[in-house]
Amino acid sequence: MEQVLVIGGGAGGLMAAIAAAQSGAKVVLFEKNEKTGKKIYITGKGRCNLTNLCEKEVFFDNVINNPRFMYSSYHALDSEATIGLFNNMGLKTKVERGGRVFPESDMSASVTDALRDTVKKLGIRVMLDSRVTHICTRDGAFSHVTLEDGTELKGGACVLATGGLSYPATGSTGDGFTMAKELGHTVTKLVPSLVGLRTEESFVAELEGLSLRNVRLVMKVGGKKRYDELGEMLFTRRGISGPLVLTLSSVCSKDLTSGKDCTFSIDLKPGLDEQQLDKRITTDFNDNINKDFINALDKLLPTKLIPVVVTLSGIDPHRKVNTVSRAERMNLVKILKAFPLTFKCTGGFEEAVITKGGISVKEVDPSTLESKIVPGLFFAGEILDVDALTGGFNLQIAWSTGFVAGNSAAGRVLQN
Ligand SMILES: Cc1cc2nc3c(=O)[nH]c(=O)nc-3n(C[C@H](O)[C@H](O)[C@H](O)COP(=O)(O)OP(=O)(O)OC[C@H]3O[C@@H](n4cnc5c(N)ncnc54)[C@H](O)[C@@H]3O)c2cc1C
Repeated sequence: MEQVLVIGGGAGGLMAAIAAAQSGAKVVLFEKNEKTGKKIYITGKGRCNLTNLCEKEVFFDNVINNPRFMYSSYHALDSEATIGLFNNMGLKTKVERGGRVFPESDMSASVTDALRDTVKKLGIRVMLDSRVTHICTRDGAFSHVTLEDGTELKGGACVLATGGLSYPATGSTGDGFTMAKELGHTVTKLVPSLVGLRTEESFVAELEGLSLRNVRLVMKVGGKKRYDELGEMLFTRRGISGPLVLTLSSVCSKDLTSGKDCTFSIDLKPGLDEQQLDKRITTDFNDNINKDFINALDKLLPTKLIPVVVTLSGIDPHRKVNTVSRAERMNLVKILKAFPLTFKCTGGFEEAVITKGGISVKEVDPSTLESKIVPGLFFAGEILDVDALTGGFNLQIAWSTGFVAGNSAAGRVLQN
């Protein structure tokens, strides 16, 4: 019997290898690192948010690029089935806020352990420190792979699951894109996504680490509103990050890479309209009538933000609040309702949770994940031009596509 070769020991590759072996195929898994699952280990801040227990519509709403391509594979392995599969591997799971699923241990190592134990039990041959450099064909169909040291290994089918370009230190360096291109596949534009953004304003450095809850983040491009959401965000040394910003980086990716001017404004008090906010400030000022302006904002703003807002207001920080005019106060209100920031660039791949873009889904059969260009070649995981928001959805894409690619690859070798 011919064997299934799986390239990449991340979430997609491990699942593909397990699925293929469970279907009865002989499987060899190549991983260029000294161990498998390096990225899984750092997911969910070390806790691994392995999926999201939600209605299927919610899953597809959270897939930003090519959700329709996922219909078939998600149907084959949805989040509930994924949890069941992991439970059968001996992993206990729990569901948290927003349907996020974590290992009960709160340790991502429990997930990698479960996968590695299963790989072992199924007799999958794992070749570590083995970097695949070429995928070779014979008569147009997959025939064998070549490793960096020149070794060649034949197989009846191959699953390419080398991930994207994000966090290259985990092994995701884009080798698979090069190999697939050599075979005639199209790789769509690759950009960092679910990533922090850098701003022109250098004052953000003073705000580093400041987290804002219940704020509204608005992005405009050429004066047109492109994003307007309420939630949490965070200042970083060179810009902004946190949930609102990560989502923006994904859903507005085209705008951010268009070269057009993008501006942000943060409504620091979304619960109050301008009039209500002015009333609130007036009350605060009346309570602090003999204080300097800079010392009269403690109730209104987090400490770190006060000097920045004061500078933006143009009001001398040491003027007594009772000398602040109505016009100056209204200007302050405007700043609080639309704290301004200018987009400079996105963070790089080294800090991006995922890579947007990948193997064009037009060239892949969604029901089997087989290449439409090279019979016998299958794809799984982040290498595909499919990506989702945070919440466990990206790992679910890897599990579902890995499961289908592994089963289909096994089907192909077992048939021959
Ligand atoms: C910091 C961080 C936190 C995240 N947290 C979450 C989360 O909590 N929930 C969630 O759903 N998603 C999360 N993600 C996203 C998720 O981890 C990825 O989408 C998913 O792991 C992709 O799996 P993959 O198997 O496609 O690719 P990868 O995990 O990138 O695996 C690819 C593997 O292929 C190997 N490889 C590459 N080239 C070769 C080669 N030439 N030969 C042999 N092997 C090769 C690599 O070494 C690597 O092990 C997070 C990502 C990051 C960076």
